[in-house]
Amino acid sequence: MNRNEGVLHAGPAGLADLAAVLGDAVRDVGSWMSEYGGYDPHPSQDVPLADLRRATADLHERLRDNYPFFHPRYVGQMLKPPHPAAVVGYLSAMLINPNNHALDGGPATAAMEKEVVADLAAMFGLPQHLGHLTSSGTIANLEALFVARETHPGKAIAHSADAHYTHGRMSRLLGVEAVPVTTTAAGTLDLTALEDLLCTGRIGTVVATTGTTGLGAVDPVDEIIALARRYGARVHVDAAYGGYFRLIADDTADGVRSAPFRAIADADSVVIDPHKHGLQPYGCGAVLFRDPSVARHYLHDSPYTYFTSDELHLGEISLECSRAGAAAAALWLTSRVLPLTPAGLGAVLRPGRRAALAWADLITGSEELTLFQPPELDIVGYFPARDRLSEIDRASAHVLDAGMRRAPEQALFVATYAVAGADLARRGHRVDGDIARGRILRSVLMKPESEAHLPDLHREIARLSADA
Ligand SMILES: *Cc1c(COP(=O)(O)O)cnc(C)c1O
Repeated sequence: MNRNEGVLHAGPAGLADLAAVLGDAVRDVGSWMSEYGGYDPHPSQDVPLADLRRATADLHERLRDNYPFFHPRYVGQMLKPPHPAAVVGYLSAMLINPNNHALDGGPATAAMEKEVVADLAAMFGLPQHLGHLTSSGTIANLEALFVARETHPGKAIAHSADAHYTHGRMSRLLGVEAVPVTTTAAGTLDLTALEDLLCTGRIGTVVATTGTTGLGAVDPVDEIIALARRYGARVHVDAAYGGYFRLIADDTADGVRSAPFRAIADADSVVIDPHKHGLQPYGCGAVLFRDPSVARHYLHDSPYTYFTSDELHLGEISLECSRAGAAAAALWLTSRVLPLTPAGLGAVLRPGRRAALAWADLITGSEELTLFQPPELDIVGYFPARDRLSEIDRASAHVLDAGMRRAPEQALFVATYAVAGADLARRGHRVDGDIARGRILRSVLMKPESEAHLPDLHREIARLSADA
């Protein structure tokens, strides 16, 4: 393992340094607390230290029942531990436990939230914005669809059939009709089908996805906006997974296509999940609106909060009430050391993108595996080369199960993705669709370490597939 003096590494290599920085953080917060003068702790909360240590040991035993999300041989779901800076930021603020609902709940982290949201707006190139953090991409999308309903009452929401299921579900919750639109062979929203739908006048808002959760397919946001504007419809971009790829949307060999990501600047709203590619712990999504006047849809009064100032309280523009100020502190501290620039966080995303491209090439040249479709981001869909969908399904399940059952130092973790025979046929794969739906393999290469491990990963997955 390469270790550089004076550098804090992410992952296991950096844990000793992280422990030291966390110790400093606890001490510094404690020194601020002591300025208020000492007081006697109430005995009701006293616990024997030995009991806590024993219970903690039990907890750690229980936590062993996990998949190694941190390891490059884990290429399953979109999961990875937060950056150490996020851990330090979260823990520091958590010791105080500010609530970003209102400025009364903690002015410092509310100010940090406004700063990090402004950074996200700048990354997307929004000329002005209204936005806030949320506890997830689901809630962030709910807020965007809520505003969509308020601005276009009685109109439906159109989203691609491959968009996240949350859009259909949240539309139901909001009492708004949601219309799935056919996808192209690339898994993106079909513009002809969209135009046919817009022609009916039923659609008030179109949801575009820059990076589907399944395959990382990027909808043509630029063309969707042009089309939607012609029919007076609003455009919401679900960039929960793919938003940070804006940093490497430069049309270079190891970047991604710029047009869809640049067009986000012209969308009416956008959602991004810092807890996916932003190196944050769970509990951190964000929604941004292009028109700050949508704040009127959130109008409410609260007899409990909003006392200390006339300045905007975040709770006045969000549907959630209590939210962890610690989440804002974590994101703020992370952005201080890895800013939202191509050389900052962009350099964390680029190796995963290269890994996806390199893997696509290896799979294309392999007898054992077939590429489902070319990756647009860092998610690769592929399958064991077999004649029937039932055989592909069985072999994929074998790769998933047998990989996980290996001893830890050789274990491999992939994910599966359910497709129909027609999905394979549309992509030019000659497979007998003998069952309605079957599993193919899906890997998310969201850790920069994936790149160096790729040749091994490919070889081992091909081996498992051949054994099936
Ligand atoms: C993950 C994801 C969501 C849901 O976000 P959560 O943070 O899991 O609630 C919505 N849309 C897309 C495209 C996603 O990838």
